[in-house]
Amino acid sequence: MFTFSDDQQALIEAARATAQAELAPTVKADDEAELFRKDLFQRLGAAGLCGVPTAEQWGGLGLGYVEYALVIEEIAKVAPAYAVAVAVSGLPQVTLAQFGNDEQRARWMPGLAAGELLGAFALSEPGSGSDAGSLRTTAVREGNTYRLNGTKFWITHGGYADVYVVMARTGGPGPKGISAFLVPAGTPGLSFGKKEEKMGLRASPTVEMILEDAVIPVENRIGNEGNGFLVAMSALDSGRITIAATALGISQAALDCAGRYAVARKQFDQAIIDFQAVGFMLADMAVRIEQARLLTHKAAWLKDQRMPFSHIAAMAKCAATDCGMSVTTDAVQVLGGYGYTREYPLERLMRDAKVMQIVEGTNQVQRVVIARHLKRGWD
Ligand SMILES: Cc1cc2nc3c(=O)[nH]c(=O)nc-3n(C[C@H](O)[C@H](O)[C@H](O)COP(=O)(O)OP(=O)(O)OC[C@H]3O[C@@H](n4cnc5c(N)ncnc54)[C@H](O)[C@@H]3O)c2cc1C
Repeated sequence: MFTFSDDQQALIEAARATAQAELAPTVKADDEAELFRKDLFQRLGAAGLCGVPTAEQWGGLGLGYVEYALVIEEIAKVAPAYAVAVAVSGLPQVTLAQFGNDEQRARWMPGLAAGELLGAFALSEPGSGSDAGSLRTTAVREGNTYRLNGTKFWITHGGYADVYVVMARTGGPGPKGISAFLVPAGTPGLSFGKKEEKMGLRASPTVEMILEDAVIPVENRIGNEGNGFLVAMSALDSGRITIAATALGISQAALDCAGRYAVARKQFDQAIIDFQAVGFMLADMAVRIEQARLLTHKAAWLKDQRMPFSHIAAMAKCAATDCGMSVTTDAVQVLGGYGYTREYPLERLMRDAKVMQIVEGTNQVQRVVIARHLKRGWD
């Protein structure tokens, strides 16, 4: 838990080398152009990085979430949008591993794990974000098919993905009326609307998804009717570990950039790192990162041990993403005026860090999860 095995160290180094070789050359330009390159994602897949925790039987590396978190942190140090791509494309994999049947696994998991296929996860809607149980997209059973109608919002990889896990209402109001479905790209009636113009994570496409009489076979339902909310929440529990890992990568990259600058930059005839005010700022950043990393790895380890991990994953998500925002903000400060320019990556990392406090359950919602867990222990 506190040190890495030789195999884990080798995985970290492989992920680092791949991210440097494949993602570093275009990360700045792609942020400015708001460009997602599916071929880069596929190259991460070719290097074995898109199915780390997926069983070997289904095309993955068959490792745990600890290894998954390590890989995602390395990718995020270079290009957070692609760490998110790996994390989001992992959501259909973890969903099918837990709730799918063997036909669905055989159809989708090997391609997703190899990065040949890109996955997406469609829960949010214009009127339902944190309150996901109130979603309004409908799936009406007609013999051996379901007819889907509704609008999904904020869909990462919308229009780029090969398969979407879609939550839709098959029953009455509330979470118990929701079911989960696999909707392949190209399904008639599936289309995409507005692409969001975002503050950060600009190389990751966030798109409106429209379902107008989209008909899918009944075999595309994941699990039973009415368990879609459980499917979604289980996927997001695991997803929070990957968002935490992404925030760790962003934080570490910002600290390394600020630290190197503080050693090289001289004012008043001395390196600015030797001003205690600057050195302590860097020390505090390192403390916050180390704390958040320990929590993230603990959440991943608990999941790998098949022990309850939701509340620790929620803590890790809060700690790591709050750390991401504060560390990137302080890193800009360490560089002074240069930190505020696009010459250095810090303003981009700061913009990328912000969204981590919002996605896969806002940090307020994580605190609701943690408080509820604590209350149960005190009842
Ligand atoms: C870049 C990006 C990518 C995304 N990708 C996806 C995706 O791939 N798939 C998908 O389904 N969704 C995706 N989302 C949606 C994301 O999950 C939602 O934005 C998030 O869950 C918050 O929902 P909301 O934006 O509707 O905010 P709201 O739920 O309206 O929240 C607004 C504010 O109210 C607070 N709030 C709400 N409820 C409570 C409460 N009970 N207690 C305390 N405070 C509360 C929130 O914390 C927040 O500060 C993405 C969003 C972004 C920005």
